[in-house]
Amino acid sequence: MEERELQQYRSVLEAKQAELVEALRRRDGITIEKAADALDEVRLAADRELMIHTLDRESLRLREIRAALARIEEGTYGICLGCEEPIPKKRLDAVPWAAYCVRCQEAVDAQRAAETAGPIIESLLEEPV
Ligand SMILES: [Zn+2]
Repeated sequence: MEERELQQYRSVLEAKQAELVEALRRRDGITIEKAADALDEVRLAADRELMIHTLDRESLRLREIRAALARIEEGTYGICLGCEEPIPKKRLDAVPWAAYCVRCQEAVDAQRAAETAGPIIESLLEEPV
């Protein structure tokens, strides 16, 4: 990849990183409110659930962005971690922190889904004692 292109991806990634760090920092100040009544309790629990879900997603994205920036430093940016083929520019434009080409990403996602679903399915299939 050309140095000029690499610098472009780097600035996109750095901007996104700064945005996420800022968002995470803002949420850091959120404390668990004390509910006035039962209905509030339910609403707050739902808010917390949603917030935790968003936090999870954002911190995962932040890790992906940091890994991508590290790959720029190492000179391996834009190379699929799975098959070691170049990741198409179109994909990098859409997902600059992509670590895999679409084909390998699908395999990784399927693997991850299996790891998550596996124990649940196993516990469902277990014979009751
Ligand atoms: Zn690949």
